[in-house]
Amino acid sequence: MRPDRAETIFQNGTLWTGIDGPKDATALAVAGGRIAAVGSRDEVLALRGPDTRMVDLAGQTLVPGFVDAHAHIWKIGHLLTTLLDVRSATSLADVAARLRAQAGKIPTGSWLQGRGYNETRFHDGRSPTRADLDAVVSDRPVVLTRTCAHIVVCNSQALERAGIGRDTAAPPGGEIDRGPDGEPTGVLRETAMGMVLRLIPPPTHDEYAAMIAAALRHQASLGVTSTNDAGVVPALLDTYRRLDKEGGLPIRINVMALRLVDGVGAVPLPARRHHSNRLRIDTVKFFADGGLSGATAALSVPYRHADTRGNLRVEYDELLALAREAHDAGWRIATHAIGDEAIDLVLRVYEACGRGPQRHRIEHFGLPNADHLARAARAGVIGVPQAIFVHALGRNFRHYLPDALLARAYPVRAMLDAGVTVALSSDAPVVEDDSPLRGMQAAVLRRDADGEAIAPAEAISIDEALDAYTRGGAVASGDDADRGRLWPGMQADLAVLSGDPRATPPEALTALRVTQTWVGGQQVY
Ligand SMILES: [Zn+2]
Repeated sequence: MRPDRAETIFQNGTLWTGIDGPKDATALAVAGGRIAAVGSRDEVLALRGPDTRMVDLAGQTLVPGFVDAHAHIWKIGHLLTTLLDVRSATSLADVAARLRAQAGKIPTGSWLQGRGYNETRFHDGRSPTRADLDAVVSDRPVVLTRTCAHIVVCNSQALERAGIGRDTAAPPGGEIDRGPDGEPTGVLRETAMGMVLRLIPPPTHDEYAAMIAAALRHQASLGVTSTNDAGVVPALLDTYRRLDKEGGLPIRINVMALRLVDGVGAVPLPARRHHSNRLRIDTVKFFADGGLSGATAALSVPYRHADTRGNLRVEYDELLALAREAHDAGWRIATHAIGDEAIDLVLRVYEACGRGPQRHRIEHFGLPNADHLARAARAGVIGVPQAIFVHALGRNFRHYLPDALLARAYPVRAMLDAGVTVALSSDAPVVEDDSPLRGMQAAVLRRDADGEAIAPAEAISIDEALDAYTRGGAVASGDDADRGRLWPGMQADLAVLSGDPRATPPEALTALRVTQTWVGGQQVY
């Protein structure tokens, strides 16, 4: 049924309606929160009524609201509220100065937590150790999380509280780094992080709610109308459900439930799935390996500058049992897998689960080979890579990856060519700049922050990048019938860009601005 009168009409713009949609539309009408018409000015103005709000795009470009298919919303919000942000630190001295300043701001005795250091940005490339932290803050426990979130460094007080000493063994799937003297250096990897992180009092509902509000406002300002929280603990699921009930979610969000929590172990599958206008909870999240930037992703060959092949975080039998339970109960499964060893393991698990009505996802999907891509396409698996890593972490990739693997790092071109649905995303706060425009630019240009090309044959077109940041993300959460394109009947989730990305040189994409964001026909930015 075509509504008689529009609430809002956008006119005088350039519209990108979708990769397979009409290219000549200049106007769009919204009624009942959904798109009522898309087309020429005359076609759309036929829906104008006395109360219709007219929005003059003045030549700007209207696109479907962006979908960030993989982000960590509460962690973005943590950095925007109470967590020390050291992502831009360029030296250990810089990290130390920020720690000292933060210590003066928070109550004595409370944990000092920071996030985002990346030693490859420091001139000597050296990671901080507990001695570095002790020299700055020794009267309270300190934990700094590396940019990849798979490694932490602790000061001595944090290690003492966790009972980690000379003779402490690491849990399976984790490592406690030790110096030549056999003493822990303060660096904990993968599951060993949980030995310390579980001691930190969890945020309260109100603290979580403040983080989520800050992060969703931030993403709305980037033109994101649907986002994801890729792995949350049960208490945070409750906060999301409460916020949904109270109308506290300005944009749409797909929240993935963790089944294995570091330091806790397996938590039960949530009792029920949740699907409202703003909130979806019907995906479970697993981790099969670590990250490339810290050499913890599980590779089939050794890293270039580290005597390791990374770490698998789960065994096949354990993952299959948990995945099968979720699959049979109708849950979508999203598994973090970056290295080719991890990707192979996850594909075997998904293949063993069989095809269901829901499509499963591989998060990051950093180093698949041709066989993996063909199998993923056959199994209907959605790839959720971060081309934005090419820009933000390309330097780490060049440092750590052997040439053969570097040539197929985040191979988005090959994914599309193999028939895999691709949902682009930021993985923020792993990257500091989570703008979809930055992510699209990286997917098209394939250059790192130094301007070096990373697997340039894997470049995609701007249309493909727009598609993967809109429709692709909607497919990944099962919402593509409802959003991701500017088609009549779909949700009026919209972003207004200061210029047309298709008419902008890729180098200048990040100079475009998001000037408005609309969700369900309501302006949220
Ligand atoms: Zn992630």
